[in-house]
Amino acid sequence: MTDTTTRPYRGKVLWVDLESGACREEIIPEEVYRQYLSGLGLAAYLLYRDLPPGVDALGPANILGFVSGLLTGTGSLFTGRWMAVAKSPLTGTWGESNCGGRLSPAIKQCGYDGIFFTGSSPEPVLLVVDADGPRLEPAGDLWGCDTIETETALLARYAGGPKPAVACIGPAGERQSLISGISHDFGRFAARAGLGAVMGSKRLKALVLAGARPIAAADPATIKRLSKRCSRYYLTSWPLPPARFLPYLGTLVSKFPLGFPLDGLIEVAVFKRWGTAGTYGMAVEWGDAPIKNWAGSNEDYPIKMARGVDPEQIFQQEERKYFCYSCPLGCGGICKYGPEGREIHKPEYETLMAFGGLQLNNDLETLFEINDRLNRAGMDSISAGGTIAFAMECYEKGLLTEADTGGLALRWGDAQVALTLVEQMIAREGFGALLADGVKRAAAQLGERAAEAAIHAGGQELAFHDPRLDPGFALHASVEPNPGRHTAGAQVYYEMYRLWTRCPELPRPKLLYRKRSKYTSSPEMAAQAVAASCYTQLYNAAGLCMFGAFLGVDRLPVFEWLNAALGWELPPEAYMQIGKRIQTLRQLFNLREGVDPTALRANPRVLGIPPLREGANKGRTIALDQMIRDYYAAIGWDPETGVPLPETVQALGLREK
Ligand code: SF4
Repeated sequence: MTDTTTRPYRGKVLWVDLESGACREEIIPEEVYRQYLSGLGLAAYLLYRDLPPGVDALGPANILGFVSGLLTGTGSLFTGRWMAVAKSPLTGTWGESNCGGRLSPAIKQCGYDGIFFTGSSPEPVLLVVDADGPRLEPAGDLWGCDTIETETALLARYAGGPKPAVACIGPAGERQSLISGISHDFGRFAARAGLGAVMGSKRLKALVLAGARPIAAADPATIKRLSKRCSRYYLTSWPLPPARFLPYLGTLVSKFPLGFPLDGLIEVAVFKRWGTAGTYGMAVEWGDAPIKNWAGSNEDYPIKMARGVDPEQIFQQEERKYFCYSCPLGCGGICKYGPEGREIHKPEYETLMAFGGLQLNNDLETLFEINDRLNRAGMDSISAGGTIAFAMECYEKGLLTEADTGGLALRWGDAQVALTLVEQMIAREGFGALLADGVKRAAAQLGERAAEAAIHAGGQELAFHDPRLDPGFALHASVEPNPGRHTAGAQVYYEMYRLWTRCPELPRPKLLYRKRSKYTSSPEMAAQAVAASCYTQLYNAAGLCMFGAFLGVDRLPVFEWLNAALGWELPPEAYMQIGKRIQTLRQLFNLREGVDPTALRANPRVLGIPPLREGANKGRTIALDQMIRDYYAAIGWDPETGVPLPETVQALGLREK
């Protein structure tokens, strides 16, 4: 039995029935933490146990959860991520979304590992947890307010005690846009899977968490020592070329005849200086960034265009760096924006690419404006940008005319049109109403020919990392129980995670390899992909930021932190088995929902069908079917159906329901 005063988890969750207003605590047995850790693992356990199969994702029976990471608050680094979970209304599958900021420690400081909502409230409400305990309060006055107005009002209303952490939805979530997300800390987002719509359907405007309980760990001295040792990897200032040279570096890498594994130290150094925007020009040139709705290439968006989205210019607008809780890196940035000099989060790579290269736009000023509008409304910029790029292609092909768009000419590169469409999507007005639920729904209304331009996996718009450069993005987006996620895994992530340094049976990537060897499948690649999946689930249970994970497990001591926090002595392989258990349970969740895993595949275009005729990814096609079969076999699922094999289910101690 773990000593309750030294364990890093709380051992209980809060259930809130939005129908009756009743709040109830549930003690979670220690065995559950041993099987799933906390965070995403605990959420998967509870939703699989309690969510009735086949519920309407926007109906009262859906369960919406907010979970903290197991390592959050223990003194470990990069471990302040929280996750929202529910059945996704966008994909009809397991749904999850990950975010930083301060909410993860706030959940624990309130005394819980997670907060779960059932039912739906007749009137708008917010959950408050403070020294007086948990309760629902009316939020009718906030309904209709954007995310910034809501958070500002709530911080003022609940000032006086410990500073609250707020998570809320904006008008997009209230209107149940299937591409709406949940905002925290004035513009950090759990944006994916349409979970803002679930919150809106429950008429839950916000959570206000103002606890002050300390968070413990079994061996804080060891955690501190490990954290100190790790600091040299992110504190070192690596020499970086000026931002204007970065695209040329991308060109060089794309022309080099051989491939080589990427060391996460480089990625982390770029993020430390410029944030994720730092990779923009490089990504275009080496083929990571999809151009013109995935049908174009860097030839259509050459360096002189991509330079318009200049990381250095964004960096110059930064007032200060933004750090999530326990993060020493600070990839975020706060900028002054607009005539009143309002503070906003700077746009991230995904937003810049969604409305930049994907739409052949390079107007940085409008990209800032679009970023701000989407953040205020609480709409996912990846999905919104992907859906507008789809509409632009349909217009170009004559599948849409100005008679359909209310007079708008949806021309590539027209930033003002993109901004107008964003406004319409948020308001669900005009032509924007057709786009407000994402690309799959929009294509369904435009007929068969539109489907080829609708880029998604399982209904979720793909983020902007091209599988024709790294096929792992297509594989993971297609096998992931929450389909379409770029954070679920990739070949390059496996390289950066450096798992073979702790799990010697895992393959070590070759120092140099022929580029075309990436595009076929092999048992070794399948083993790498499964390891990347299991590690992702593990660190989502721990609350780790993916960018921290890029440092590699030999530099960022995740396994050692877990043992020190928990007082356990498990080998890395045992933790990886926990990751596999979480991955398999989420797959069982989908099967119980009647989801066919093989139907969650990424769109053929992103696989190189047909192949691109020019640019960095010219002529590449990916053997995705074989990769999926090999992945399923390697993780212990049926290679043809994706159904976990009985022996796998048994070995993981799972039970099908
Ligand atoms: S690296 Fe960036 S996203 Fe990750 S925890 Fe730090 S600030 Fe947050």
